[in-house]
Amino acid sequence: MVLIAEDEPGQAEVLKYNLESSGFGVRTSPNGADTLQQIEEDRPDFLVLDWMLPEISGIEICRRLRKIEQNKDLPIIMVTARGEEEDRIRALEVGADDYMVKPYSSGELVARINAVLRRTSPALIGEKLEFADLVLDLVSRKVKRDGDFIHLGPKEFKILQALMQRPGRVLSRRQIIDLAWGQNIYIEDRTVDVHIRRLRSALGGDDKPNLIRTVRGFGYSLDQE
Ligand code: CA
Repeated sequence: MVLIAEDEPGQAEVLKYNLESSGFGVRTSPNGADTLQQIEEDRPDFLVLDWMLPEISGIEICRRLRKIEQNKDLPIIMVTARGEEEDRIRALEVGADDYMVKPYSSGELVARINAVLRRTSPALIGEKLEFADLVLDLVSRKVKRDGDFIHLGPKEFKILQALMQRPGRVLSRRQIIDLAWGQNIYIEDRTVDVHIRRLRSALGGDDKPNLIRTVRGFGYSLDQE
């Protein structure tokens, strides 16, 4: 999840829209105190931080975050109207990973976020699974079918992830339980069927080609008919 700390609602909205379109999960924060609180409670994967924020400035937030062990590695891009070279240097000195000057293009910001993530959190990036017209993004935890976002419950998401990581392979109900619920957890087999039904319905039900094949008496696989 990307946290956008920006006090101008219009700018926050545009940015949120663009990041969501690029597959990121997004939250916003209008001031410094709230930003620190959200970081503490929601542990974002990335912070887009406006320099001039009410209550606590972006620079101060950056400085504070870098002093806390668990936030030392939180990737941060500072955003500001100030473009003087010494401002850029100051932003990088307090620990920002990158710096953008307003007005900037949202496309460039998304590209820079990806570049920073590639450098700082390689495990988070490129984790996109694709099958037929399905795209599952492990970073933003979003799923798209034929370009449209699909809302899935957490178990449906994990089941789809398990299937998409093994396209064409038949997974038993027990294997699906291990992958989606965890090992050594007692779940009845028919609970898997219930979640598969929900998953199929979320993926379009009868309106779209069914990508999840039932293998009678055994389990399921991801297949194109
Ligand atoms: Ca501002």
